[in-house]
Amino acid sequence: MLENLPLLAAVNLHKTYRKHAIEVPVLTGVDLEVFAGEFLSIVGSSGSGKSTLLHLLGTLDKPDAGRILFNTERIDNLPAEQRDRLRNETFGFIFQFYHLLPELTTLENVLMPKMIALSVRGWLRQRRTLKQHATELLDRVGLGHRLHHKPRELSGGEMQRAAIARALINRPRILLADEPTGNLDADKGLEIIRLLRDLNRQEQLTIIMVTHNMEIVGNTDRVVRLIKGRVEDATKSPSLLQPTMTG
Ligand code: ADP
Ligand code: MG
Repeated sequence: MLENLPLLAAVNLHKTYRKHAIEVPVLTGVDLEVFAGEFLSIVGSSGSGKSTLLHLLGTLDKPDAGRILFNTERIDNLPAEQRDRLRNETFGFIFQFYHLLPELTTLENVLMPKMIALSVRGWLRQRRTLKQHATELLDRVGLGHRLHHKPRELSGGEMQRAAIARALINRPRILLADEPTGNLDADKGLEIIRLLRDLNRQEQLTIIMVTHNMEIVGNTDRVVRLIKGRVEDATKSPSLLQPTMTG
């Protein structure tokens, strides 16, 4: 892979939602390049289209116009089956509200993407190795002592850690994080950002995080802003980068 080419790129993305004959243009020409190993923040006010953009980048939704390129190959127009496979192999997702399944233990939640993807036979053959991997991931995010707890027995920060472990079970190249600290106290949110930073540095995990919380973006490599349907480089408006956090 060529180092100077982006791992993921959005080219002139447009997205309009249509409801009851009302058109809501959300993205009106987004260009964005994300490089391997980067931890990128995308900031913007509520309703500016951050989640929409993240969904398009992760092929959860399709743009009306424009392209998404992964390793220079177009991925937004793949046939559904191929796109689903690429998504599972390439992207991990975490969200503001964790989306853990309440009836399952932490360990089972982390294994869920594998259970869905594998045949019964495949699952039975691999389950020992997969449980080992899931346990290691939960250790890695600091939840080694909570393997058999249900989500309701976990704190918000712990639930987000479990969700991070689940997002990593398929060894994704890119983690897409939608307001991952949005439901947490400032200090717990900071712990999550530090964990993401460690994973980014130690596992060379590329991370794209959207947030409207300016307090947490200081520990990421680069900040861009979504405004009026487009992405602008936040370094061109330095006031945007205040305040930043230390540590
Ligand atoms: P953000 O994540 O920055 O808060 P979103 O991407 O969720 O913004 O939403 C951007 C705009 O698009 C908002 O005005 C929202 O109401 C609208 N929107 C989002 N999803 C849909 C949808 N599925 N149908 C119609 N409008 C939507
Ligand atoms: Mg959102």
